[in-house]
Amino acid sequence: WLRGRPVPELRTAIPGPLSSAVVERDLAITSRSLPRAYPLAPQRGHGCAIEDADGNLFLDFNAGIAVNSTGHCHPAVVTAVQEQAAALLHYSASDFFLPIYSQMCAALAETAPMSGPVRVFLSNSGAEAVEGALKLARYATKRPYVISFYGAFHGRTMGAVTLTASKSKYHKGFGPLLPGVLHAPYGDDSTFEHLENVLFRYEVAPDEVAAIFVEPIQGEGGYLVPPAGWMARLRELCDKHGILLIADEVQSGAGRTGKMWAIEHTGVEPDILISAKGLASGLPLGAFLARAELMESWPAGAHGSTYGGSPVACAAGLATLDVIRSEGLMENATQVGQLLLDGLRKIQAEHPDKIVDVRGVGLMIGVEFATADEAAEVQRRAFESGLLVLECGESAIRLSPPLVVTAGEAQKALSLFAAAVAG
Ligand code: PMP
Repeated sequence: WLRGRPVPELRTAIPGPLSSAVVERDLAITSRSLPRAYPLAPQRGHGCAIEDADGNLFLDFNAGIAVNSTGHCHPAVVTAVQEQAAALLHYSASDFFLPIYSQMCAALAETAPMSGPVRVFLSNSGAEAVEGALKLARYATKRPYVISFYGAFHGRTMGAVTLTASKSKYHKGFGPLLPGVLHAPYGDDSTFEHLENVLFRYEVAPDEVAAIFVEPIQGEGGYLVPPAGWMARLRELCDKHGILLIADEVQSGAGRTGKMWAIEHTGVEPDILISAKGLASGLPLGAFLARAELMESWPAGAHGSTYGGSPVACAAGLATLDVIRSEGLMENATQVGQLLLDGLRKIQAEHPDKIVDVRGVGLMIGVEFATADEAAEVQRRAFESGLLVLECGESAIRLSPPLVVTAGEAQKALSLFAAAVAG
């Protein structure tokens, strides 16, 4: 299906917002936690193309929300999953020694942007990896407090959602949240001003803080890239107070920014790094990598998961890391990312009243609109013309296509996006 066709034939055959019976059924029976600007009922995928339940084709610049890193149904990933499924579907890796689990851990450890030895724990999702990292930070440091940033998104489980501070709706109705979590402003001088002169002065002694959780590029918060030197300053502050620096690379990692991990652009080494999303091309796999002495501080069995790092997810993860390297997907992310950034800046120059900022690294690109309504309208119009993009932050649209996206597909997406902006 669609093999060898670089740009899907796009149709504009969607008559109304609820054209599909699947969408109506989904609305009736599922618990939809996050309604989007348009109703998509994806049924099949290949590369950067998605076919919906009504047979409409879309150019997918969401990648299942930054998940389908190697494109939809990459043959190498599909084959690895099929072969592993036929060999062994499951055995709890928290209780026994699964060869494929340790293979995945070793492959990840090799990519670690940390100079010393690391150890790896595998989970089923980003939030679970965040929870594990949070538990490890408290356990290893024997300190109770953790800090994250305004605008951060770290997941929806109780600890992760407490760290999350991008929209009040993520907290509303769920309190009391996890005790011991504080927040600071992200991405400029006010970060350090607030930490040193407000939090450490009035709220908590720094030697009671176990860790600072940081997204090297804020994802759900708006695809925000901190200025050069910001991460290094944060590292310095952590070192000064013996606080662990935990990089949440669930959205920014696995090659998306043109390096395996976005923090590599800053030259800073985290103590713990969290991954998920693009790591296994769509199979449920999360991970946290920690400096060995941290992970060795807790006894065997202190943390665990029945399904985390399941053999099938590991097979997909190993194939994904392999494809990212063998197909040069990080280089592709850099090149096509630049092409997109340049094209989007041209569109911005034509519509300075509508687009107020274009930013990003590699294939993690945000386009800030003057209003949230405008951003929603552009997403809807793009959807109707066959391009899938999503919002982030208050009034931005994110572009996070599969890392296999071609220059031709990027050009096509730019022309559809330009038309959607023009209205
Ligand atoms: N951290 C970050 C930076 C994320 O973007 C997300 C998901 N958007 C998560 C954690 C949570 O991941 P999951 O949905 O797999 O639990």
